[in-house]
Amino acid sequence: MRHARRAWRLLHTDTQAAARLAGKALVQAQRRGDTEALAWAHLVRGFHSLYFATPAEALADLEVAERLFGERGDDAGRVLAATGRGRAAWRSGCAGAALQQLLALREEGLRLLKHEQRGVLLNAIAGCHSALGDSRQAFAYLHEALRGAGARRDLGFDAVLYCNLAHELMQLGDLDQALEQIALGLARSERMNNARLRSMLLINRITCLIEAGRAAQTWPDIEHLLGLPPGAGGRGTTALHFETLAIAALRCGRVGPGRDLIARAEAGGYIHLPDERVELALARALLAQHDAGAGAGLRALDAAAPWVHGEGQPPASLRVRCLHAELAAQLHEAAGDASGALEAMRRLQALAGERARALSAARAQAVLLQAELLRLRHQLEEHEARRRATERARAELARANEALSRKIVEVESLQAALHEQATHDALTGLFNRRHLEDTLPSMLALAAREGQALAAVVIDLDHFKAVNDQHGHDAGDRLLAEFGRMLREHLRRSDLAFRYGGEEFCLLMPHTTARSAGRKVGELLRRWQAARFQLAGTALDGLGFSAGVADTTEGPASAAALLKLADQRLLGAKRSGRGRVLDAAVAPTR
Ligand code: GH3
Ligand code: MG
Ligand code: MG
Repeated sequence: MRHARRAWRLLHTDTQAAARLAGKALVQAQRRGDTEALAWAHLVRGFHSLYFATPAEALADLEVAERLFGERGDDAGRVLAATGRGRAAWRSGCAGAALQQLLALREEGLRLLKHEQRGVLLNAIAGCHSALGDSRQAFAYLHEALRGAGARRDLGFDAVLYCNLAHELMQLGDLDQALEQIALGLARSERMNNARLRSMLLINRITCLIEAGRAAQTWPDIEHLLGLPPGAGGRGTTALHFETLAIAALRCGRVGPGRDLIARAEAGGYIHLPDERVELALARALLAQHDAGAGAGLRALDAAAPWVHGEGQPPASLRVRCLHAELAAQLHEAAGDASGALEAMRRLQALAGERARALSAARAQAVLLQAELLRLRHQLEEHEARRRATERARAELARANEALSRKIVEVESLQAALHEQATHDALTGLFNRRHLEDTLPSMLALAAREGQALAAVVIDLDHFKAVNDQHGHDAGDRLLAEFGRMLREHLRRSDLAFRYGGEEFCLLMPHTTARSAGRKVGELLRRWQAARFQLAGTALDGLGFSAGVADTTEGPASAAALLKLADQRLLGAKRSGRGRVLDAAVAPTR
């Protein structure tokens, strides 16, 4: 990843190092399965190929990069790779389609890309406009790209933009401004290892100087340019502009080099664009004039006619048509043809007027684009603010919900506690008398419906007053709690135990007759009699209770009648000596 990122940073400042590092990053990323580094390495190699190789080679890398970024969810990377693809489409001559493709990326790109990456997208859009002959739009986009790229001057991308901006200014006829941009670009490129960029800047300067009538000053630039390393990795293999250099050389009286440069342009096999064809014709006309006079020059100039007058051809740019008209006027004048010269001058004047209008329209366009991009940015910011507000509201709602559910849990446990308090006796943990009154009627109804016996037992601890008197009220309390524990531990789950009064208890035993309930309570009595407690430092034993047992099969129809019957038998047990359980069927058990 370190190599890949560094390669991206070096893409303009050191093209050869960038290519080398991208290759290295590619190998390492593949070995380690590092898809992020792999995506960046392909991206850098793709962009490098856009400058130094064929669009098809660039596409191969850019498509892989775009897919990898997409898979990683890295949208900024994906947009950058797609921008490269748009550039490749433009480079393969489909500027119209490329422009549509790039404009579709514009909004997302403005949101995701920063600094020079944003500039890469805007510059690509500008390039398409320029290729389509719309210098006004190209100028506007480059202007905007430069505003963003300036923040990261160390990447050298600003120098690329100076160069491109100079080209558009030159096309529009603002030569002074163009020369200024070129000077900035050349100053920046001095510390960079980018022969292609430097040669493009020099070609632009030469072009400006030719048109400004200062061709005599171009010779050092021509020599410098021809001294730069040629070919891939150097000046590149496209847009070599030997025809432009030939015009400059001939205009400054260097006929030998001029002739040589024309031969190079002809041998280069790259001359296809209208501007290139017309400039080559201009160079040939200048040479013909030198060799055989103005008439020969004019005849050589005729070769450019289809691209100058636009007869069934896309015409050359305004700039080149101006150059053509100017040379035509000069040749006519040299040939002594005043009316031909006048006609060419009129043409030149009309073209110059058109160019002046285009220039002022371009400046207006730049302001419009700036406003439009600003509006887009505002929209994005508003969108973002709305999204944040919704998120805040959602978080608040979540907090409120959480508080509410906490409250619900609190209320529920409070309710449970209240219910516990309402139905239970705090000292013994048994149900209380009120709950007995609430429960017994429905238990009676259930027993009647099922045709089963329901037994009720009333228990009264014997001589409990004496316990209090001898050991204190607290000890009495503890003994009551122990009695409750014993009942809870040794009764069936289906049996219910209640604290009936002070030291009186009641048991309800469903599906149980008085007789078997009596047996069960007899067991409890023996357990209680055998129990021994340490209370307030003294041992307590020899305890007892009396109990009366009755059941529903004996006739009582109501809760009161059943309890009364059991109570009467409890009284019987007390009277007959305490420490016993009395039910209807058997004599008191001791
Ligand atoms: P008996 O065998 O005739 O039932 O004698 P007893 O002393 O148990 O009966 P009595 O009705 O004379 O006295 C009941 C005692 O139970 C009196 C009262 O102080 C005590 N008592 C009632 N409720 C509580 C209580 O919650 N805590 C304590 N420590 N004592 C209680
Ligand atoms: Mg009592
Ligand atoms: Mg008692």
